[in-house]
Amino acid sequence: MQQWFNASLQRKISGLLVVLLSFLFVVILYSIYKLKLIDAEMHEVAEIDVPLTEMVSELEMMQLKQHLLIEQFRLRGDLAKMALEPEQAFAAQRDGLRLILSKAEQVLTKSLQQHQVRFAAAEHQQILASIEQFHQQSDSFEQQLKLALQQGHTAEEQWLKFEKEAANLDQSIVAILRQMEKLTLEASRYTDKHENEFMLVNTGLGLCAFVIGLYLTFYILQIFRQRIGRIQAEIKNVHQSIEQGEPIASPVFHEPQHRDELTELEHDLKMMVQRLSVEISNRQEIEQQLMALATRDKLTGAYNRHKWDEQLSMELSLAERGSVFSIALLDVDFFKKVNDQFGHHAGDKVLQSLTEHISRRLRKTDSLFRLGGEEFVILLPQQKAEAACQLAEMLRQHIACLDQPDLPKFTVSFGVTQYQPQDDEDSILKRADHALYQAKDMGRNRVQLG
Ligand code: GH3
Ligand code: MG
Ligand code: MG
Repeated sequence: MQQWFNASLQRKISGLLVVLLSFLFVVILYSIYKLKLIDAEMHEVAEIDVPLTEMVSELEMMQLKQHLLIEQFRLRGDLAKMALEPEQAFAAQRDGLRLILSKAEQVLTKSLQQHQVRFAAAEHQQILASIEQFHQQSDSFEQQLKLALQQGHTAEEQWLKFEKEAANLDQSIVAILRQMEKLTLEASRYTDKHENEFMLVNTGLGLCAFVIGLYLTFYILQIFRQRIGRIQAEIKNVHQSIEQGEPIASPVFHEPQHRDELTELEHDLKMMVQRLSVEISNRQEIEQQLMALATRDKLTGAYNRHKWDEQLSMELSLAERGSVFSIALLDVDFFKKVNDQFGHHAGDKVLQSLTEHISRRLRKTDSLFRLGGEEFVILLPQQKAEAACQLAEMLRQHIACLDQPDLPKFTVSFGVTQYQPQDDEDSILKRADHALYQAKDMGRNRVQLG
């Protein structure tokens, strides 16, 4: 059974077909056997029972005639009217009777010898014995009758005795006839019973074959539907994930219970989905990295100048349609000194620390850009100058208070400005730069609105 489940589909279907064909073969064999049996029984009926039935009727006729003859012996006066002498007629009658009985004997003996009798052989034998007994009885009766006729005159008593004997012989014949009738009747019942059995069993077997065939068909269809349904669901999931731009979920691999073409296909498909999922997530990662490389500053991780240009022109176009925004330009005070006193590496660390502290304190909508050297700018969409100044002041104070063990202390100056109608990329930045210059000029570590 396990082998069958693991076999290929073609072999599975072939296996099921072999089962079905074997079943049908058994049905056919059974039908042939039963038909042969019924044929033999019909033969028996035709060869034995039909002739016996005919003989029964002939014998009954003869019995009747014999009765009439005995009557004629008694009324010899009417002999002249008869075509035959009663003795002759009696002899003819007797010969006829013997002929029929010997025919019956022949049929029965031949059938018994050739083993054609399948049913109640003992009863057939019994008929033969009864016929034999009848012959003996009949011979003795004839002997007595012959003697009586030779003597010429027979007393009335003697005739009564003969009649009684004749009646006994009749009864023997009747008994034989009944036996024959009983046998032929039972033989036909026996054949009927077999025919009915044959019909019933064949109908049953036919129905079984039909049910097996139907079950196998549904079973195979069910297997196809289940497996193909799973494969379709897997493909649908991949489609949905691609359409919605979500990562493709890695398929779950189950150790297959049975291996066939569909299981292999399912497995291959899962492998392909898994590969696709890895490929897509790798590609997304690379895209993110490329995007970061293209938009972020390498040293600090803040957005770069290129991104600044892009964002600023976007904000300007929004502002032209009524929106407002502010920018806060900032520059590290005396940064050159940091480099000079603590080295370029410490200068780099200061820039990284500055970026980290500012980024942590910005709203989600605000962004920090490194314009170059130690100069940064914060873009505050939908914020007026006041709010920008507050934020700049908060950042200035925070940075001024920083006391980091490995880093020198440092301060920053801010030049803040708000978008004004007619502003372009240069004008707004120039205004902020001017404010920053003022902040530096006024002593640094301060926020100046421009
Ligand atoms: P001020 O207060 O007027 O801004 O004085 P400052 O010293 O900061 O001004 P200045 O612009 O003269 O000095 C900027 C220095 O920053 C010059 C340059 O060597 C240094 N610098 C520029 N980019 C980097 C960098 O990426 N790393 C480091 N460590 N130093 C840099
Ligand atoms: Mg500086
Ligand atoms: Mg500078």
